[in-house]
Amino acid sequence: MQRDEQIFDLILEEQERQIHGLELIASENFVSDQVLEAAGSVLTNKYAEGYPGKRYYGGCEVVDVIEQIAIDRAKELFGAEYVNVQPHSGSQANTAVYAAILKPGDKILGFDLSHGGHLTHGSPVNFSGKLYNPVFYGVEQETGRLNYDKIQEIAEKEKPQVIIAGASAYSRDMDFKRFREIADSVGALLMADIAHPAGLIAKGLMNDPIPHCHIVTTTTHKTLRGPRGGMIMMGKDFENPFGLKTPKGEIRMMSSLLDGAVFPGNQGGPLEHIIAAKAVAFGEALTDNFFRYAMQVQKNAKAMAAAFVNRDYNIISGGTDNHMMLIDLRNKNLSGKEAENALVKAEITVNKNMVPFDDRSPFVTSGIRVGTAAITTRGLVEADMETIVALIDRVIMDHTNEEVLEQVADEVNDMMSERPIFVF
Ligand code: PLP
Repeated sequence: MQRDEQIFDLILEEQERQIHGLELIASENFVSDQVLEAAGSVLTNKYAEGYPGKRYYGGCEVVDVIEQIAIDRAKELFGAEYVNVQPHSGSQANTAVYAAILKPGDKILGFDLSHGGHLTHGSPVNFSGKLYNPVFYGVEQETGRLNYDKIQEIAEKEKPQVIIAGASAYSRDMDFKRFREIADSVGALLMADIAHPAGLIAKGLMNDPIPHCHIVTTTTHKTLRGPRGGMIMMGKDFENPFGLKTPKGEIRMMSSLLDGAVFPGNQGGPLEHIIAAKAVAFGEALTDNFFRYAMQVQKNAKAMAAAFVNRDYNIISGGTDNHMMLIDLRNKNLSGKEAENALVKAEITVNKNMVPFDDRSPFVTSGIRVGTAAITTRGLVEADMETIVALIDRVIMDHTNEEVLEQVADEVNDMMSERPIFVF
């Protein structure tokens, strides 16, 4: 068969872009060769609707073992009693959880998207805001942080069925214990979405949601450094809160409802090649080397935030506890969109992001979000953060000057081209 040069040339072009540039998108990372190999394996050929030992297709003996290893490794990594590794993405994981525990029209309390939450936490443009009845909590304007007393007040007023603790652009740790007290006080279930800090949580570097939250969802491709995908966990299984029984009169446990909501509720065949890649990534995350990696991610983020603050950049909440920060550019007289475009020309990839109390639209925004998960995989350390911030500052201060953008791009290329993709 003739090689599809058109596509493979483009893949090569993307590989070059990844090698030569500075990848600062907070939700991205570089996977190991082994994760990549598993994701590109013949397992993509296999249909395996159902769960290990209970499939609707023949020939699942091998994928059964692989999927069980992925589940067992994830349980060990997070200290969970229940894990479902089949969600195709973080959004699919959240879709399945809501389907398992909510009826259309039920109320959910989530982190406002414009303050750092995720689309699937009730945004009106997402299924979660169309199918359910969303209400929101946000950060305080003065501190850029959550105020748990205010969340308590909103929960008491709104009486949601589910509270979602988690974010896409919040640089501070979350108090899951306090969230659980709030949830218990209004009879709500508590779900944590740890898509962003999962790798740091797995290694004990941030608060652990598993002992406090009824259900925890995550993506596997951000700080956890696996293939693109999602996962659902529970510290302890529990009886479904709505008293639903099977036709035989047995009480349905949450694990059974969640499994059913993923398949057949929301998905067909699981992506066993991706599940194998998840298993490899979880194996890597269980090592001491990954602990050192996660520590370095956090150290780099702190060093980067300090370097930005030194140059009069307004970091929301003044710093970071995790791998990312949100920068309000309103004192720099350019929009998030202009900053993103200029930085891309300089081969520095970030994403424009709304900042709390933003007066610009989500397509323009007043901020950018940056993260250190990917550059840490490439072996960059604290001392490099000052250099990177200086490069970003040159672009921001002179964002319409093509000569400056080209000069910075050359310096970025010099800095990154010789570095392997996967050092740490
Ligand atoms: N939840 C949070 C908090 C996220 O940040 C994201 C992705 O950015 C998701 C869920 C969705 O993940 P995916 O893009 O895999 O659907």
